[in-house]
Amino acid sequence: MFQLDGSAWSGLNEDMASQAYVSVRIDRERIRRNAQEIQRRSAVALYAVIKADAYGLGAGLVAEAIGDLVDGWCVFSLAEAIEAQLWQRTRKPVIALGPPLSLEPEEYLVHHVRPAVSNAEEARLLRQADPVLCVDTGMQRFACGAEQIDEVIEAGQIREAFTHATRMEHVQRLVELTQGRGLKLHAAASSLLDRPEARLDAVRPGLALYRGAVRVSAPLVEVHQSRGPVGYTGFSAQRHGVILAGYARGLHAGPCLVNGQCRQIPEVGMQSAYVELGPEERVGDEVVLLGDDLLPDHLAPAWASTPHEVLLRLSKAGRRTYL
Ligand SMILES: *Cc1c(COP(=O)(O)O)cnc(C)c1O
Repeated sequence: MFQLDGSAWSGLNEDMASQAYVSVRIDRERIRRNAQEIQRRSAVALYAVIKADAYGLGAGLVAEAIGDLVDGWCVFSLAEAIEAQLWQRTRKPVIALGPPLSLEPEEYLVHHVRPAVSNAEEARLLRQADPVLCVDTGMQRFACGAEQIDEVIEAGQIREAFTHATRMEHVQRLVELTQGRGLKLHAAASSLLDRPEARLDAVRPGLALYRGAVRVSAPLVEVHQSRGPVGYTGFSAQRHGVILAGYARGLHAGPCLVNGQCRQIPEVGMQSAYVELGPEERVGDEVVLLGDDLLPDHLAPAWASTPHEVLLRLSKAGRRTYL
């Protein structure tokens, strides 16, 4: 496939040049299987979270891939729902989880988006758009405190409420604060999917839908026998290679896979990174930055970050192709 000359990549034509950078492959079948599995296990309504362009995977394409399986969508803003054309594509309703930037009910109604509201003023102005109450159970941002719940329910004729729960106590608090009012309730994102008591009337996973569905890779463009300290940081290695992806594409130092072996990226530059290699690896071999057995959860500790951020950064790191 590649013209290789000793340890370096040479004579690149344009097509090969594009392959020298990061490629992002998205497995729509895997997203479907994840959605089906979540549905089978939870046995309640599934609201798929496709905010932030489906965590970088592409909201429109993800919506088309699982539109027949889900009960609805969650995005952050009305603008995201419009941009991804969620209603036109799937005829499934949408909740905008973030604070309502528009207070015109018509704007939500035409796009079949329901705003989340957290105070009586928003609830009153958006009543015709059938708003959903966002209850504060600990996050302390765009959510309604315990004292105002009844006032907001009344002002917006609220029928449905949710909270952004990261722990079981958040779910319990939602139930306590809203019980006896006949509301449809949901709380569980990916981290609480395995807790039956967290499922209530619907689940709202994002990350769990995308697990295993993204593979990000870049080929080794150089391979060297290392001589003394290498790079800016002067790391030491027996052999090292170089890929054409750096922090300009969101990459950080951490584990990777080369030919199925676990390797390390010890140093990242602006548009390239070093990979520590074993004796067998050659120019043109693929460095897997995410995917195969390497999950966002494995990279997050090395990146001092969350699986969400890892997925978002890497799924936007190069040209996406969809399987
Ligand atoms: C992002 C988000 C989710 C989904 O979270 P995951 O951890 O990706 O499953 C669910 N609910 C709210 C309110 C969110 O903001």
